[in-house]
Amino acid sequence: MKLTFATGNSGKLREASEILGEGFELVSLADVGITEDIPETGTTLRANSIQKAQYLYNKIGCDCFADDTGLEVDALGGAPGVYTARYAGEEKDFNKNMDKVLYELQRMEAEASMAASLGIKTRKVSRRARFKSVITLMIDGKIHLFEGTLEGEIAREKSGNGGFGYDPIFIADEYPGLTLADITEEQKNEISHRGKALRAMAEWLKSQNS
Ligand code: IMP
Repeated sequence: MKLTFATGNSGKLREASEILGEGFELVSLADVGITEDIPETGTTLRANSIQKAQYLYNKIGCDCFADDTGLEVDALGGAPGVYTARYAGEEKDFNKNMDKVLYELQRMEAEASMAASLGIKTRKVSRRARFKSVITLMIDGKIHLFEGTLEGEIAREKSGNGGFGYDPIFIADEYPGLTLADITEEQKNEISHRGKALRAMAEWLKSQNS
């Protein structure tokens, strides 16, 4: 089955091709001649995911899907969330984004430890976090949603050369002590937010054809 994926991110395209495997031919935005940034003006992952898929479908009129992913950090009140791509600014620099998350958590921990040294009771700063992906599949102009979550925590420093985006600072519960950039692509795909959402999409598509 041929599907256009609304992403310009080669890391995402590679992951999705690996996860969906045989039976799916993924076409990139560049392949269909779309070079502009697809608007993402929603206030939720779901709204942005639908907006991207709808935009693409309106342009090409063929079956397609989009994903929107966010990182939620508990100590940051769920931020960066829907602003994950541009947490440190509009240039969407993933190194600056990661640095900002690490800095904010370190700042909170330093404040907590100073308060504790003054005898003020404070809660330990939680590094719990999760990635959430929402996939919107457009088949014959109809919307179908699939979601996946990966639970873990934010590392104290960046580690690893694999993956993309925030992978070097995210430690999944399944691989303690290793970031998503330390493990193999195959290991990441097995447990990841996007892996879960894409597999749910693939299952649904197969069930429609059986
Ligand atoms: P979007 O879904 O393309 O809007 O991505 C939002 C932000 O999340 C971007 O900064 C991506 O680099 C980041 N991101 C998306 N998926 C992943 C992932 O699997 N690992 C790490 N970062 C990701």
